[in-house]
Amino acid sequence: MPDQRLNYVDGEWTDSHTGETFETTDPATPGEVVATYPQSDAEDTERAIEAARDASEEWRETPAPERGRILRQAGATLERRRDELTELLVREEGKTRTEAGGEVQRAIDIFHYYGAKASDLGGTVKSSSARDVNLYTTNEPLGVVGLITPWNYPIAIPAWKLAPALATGNAVVIKPATLAPGVVHEMARALEEAGLPAGALNVVTGPGSAVGDTLAGHEAVDAVSFTGSTAVGNTVYDTATADGKRVQLEMGGKNPTVVSRTADPEEAADIVAAGAFGVTGQACTATSRAVVHEDVYDEFVDAIVDRAASIDHGHGLDDPGMGPHVSESELESTLEYVDVAQGEGATLEYGGSALDREGHFVEPAVFSDVDSEMRLAQEEVFGPVLAVIPVSDFDEALAVANDVDYGLAASVVTDDHTEANRFVREIEAGVVKINQKTTGLELHVPFGGVKDSSSETYREQGDAALDFYTISKTVYDT
Ligand code: NAD
Repeated sequence: MPDQRLNYVDGEWTDSHTGETFETTDPATPGEVVATYPQSDAEDTERAIEAARDASEEWRETPAPERGRILRQAGATLERRRDELTELLVREEGKTRTEAGGEVQRAIDIFHYYGAKASDLGGTVKSSSARDVNLYTTNEPLGVVGLITPWNYPIAIPAWKLAPALATGNAVVIKPATLAPGVVHEMARALEEAGLPAGALNVVTGPGSAVGDTLAGHEAVDAVSFTGSTAVGNTVYDTATADGKRVQLEMGGKNPTVVSRTADPEEAADIVAAGAFGVTGQACTATSRAVVHEDVYDEFVDAIVDRAASIDHGHGLDDPGMGPHVSESELESTLEYVDVAQGEGATLEYGGSALDREGHFVEPAVFSDVDSEMRLAQEEVFGPVLAVIPVSDFDEALAVANDVDYGLAASVVTDDHTEANRFVREIEAGVVKINQKTTGLELHVPFGGVKDSSSETYREQGDAALDFYTISKTVYDT
């Protein structure tokens, strides 16, 4: 019997007024319904925004250490339920147990991190040129913030938005992605149990075009933080900035790993395989281009094909090397890119077919002889498909690596420190790594991209997130 889940509005678990629902299914066994959710509309969303508006006064007046205690207590509850949450995440999104467990742990860590930060919020005291003036800065919450999140990290991304938003005293309305909303409900439940006042957090499920669009456009929402595709992010930006809202956007990527002439091709293949095929390639920071020096090119291609061919597939709960795509349409999209790349003249070295079994499974794909102008080298695939692009020197490698509209994460595999330093300076990306995979983030440092990957204005995570959710005031007190 699937779980029947509800919206969380003004401290009540409630149905949509539409009476309609949608289902989530297990990507490895798509006939199996995991849960049903309210198919909410604009009216449901407006109710949630009003509840947040009404609650925001009480929540901003709640002493920050108490706000932090609630976050830490909710974190402890999530920790106790870690296995249950991991299984729910696997059954809705399809990650392997190891990948999902790591993600759940990240959400728990985020609750503890911002729970501790809340006790430590405050501005700075400055000396004034006037003798009897106390000069200092203070940070105030924005009011009501709308959070719109994607399915691919269904607990970590909502956590890294809502924990700093609540820690700084904002009331929140969150719209999780429709493919895997269950773990957001569990975070709301943990916060409710920890004593979060009614209305300080509201969860509304339903289509982006209704719930997300209402959040982006509603005059009572002061700021919107969005993570998802660049196309939707641009729409959200236009809607939200039309009435002057503060907006944070984290969007797509086409992330390169440059493999230098000085690199060990086997080590480079390990790094690239982990970045390209982990989480079934469904990460905004996934490695989708290997830009490889011609001296090590053939050895690298052989080594990366070995890595791809050694991956086993299965239900995430059995913890295989690779789980399925999240949905039929994501699988179809990956298969379409495999066709497009072959049509463009790239050489399919390995994989790229759907598996002949139940579920949205696909073999990882490795393409060689890729030209930077091909669609495969320019567009985000969001699947385990790697484009290997040959280059003849480091100048060309940098030019190719930067030759895309995106700029989220990038890495270089090199033994040459001068090359590494130059890469850090010249690569157009918000996250830069040396001799590491492009995926993987730490929660206490800023995260965001450049170009079409991000709004560039506000970073997420660490202290940077606190800037987004607050207004700084400079106070002259005589
Ligand atoms: P998506 O853009 O389809 O949806 C993201 C969210 O926006 C969902 O909750 C969706 O329901 C909502 N939405 C859809 N239409 C909307 C509208 N008109 N107005 C308001 N909201 C709307 O993205 P997705 O398929 O859920 O996730 C995959 C994408 O997310 C990829 O492009 C990936 O690169 C990106 N992503 C980026 C980051 C990052 O930090 N840069 C992290 C994870 C995922």
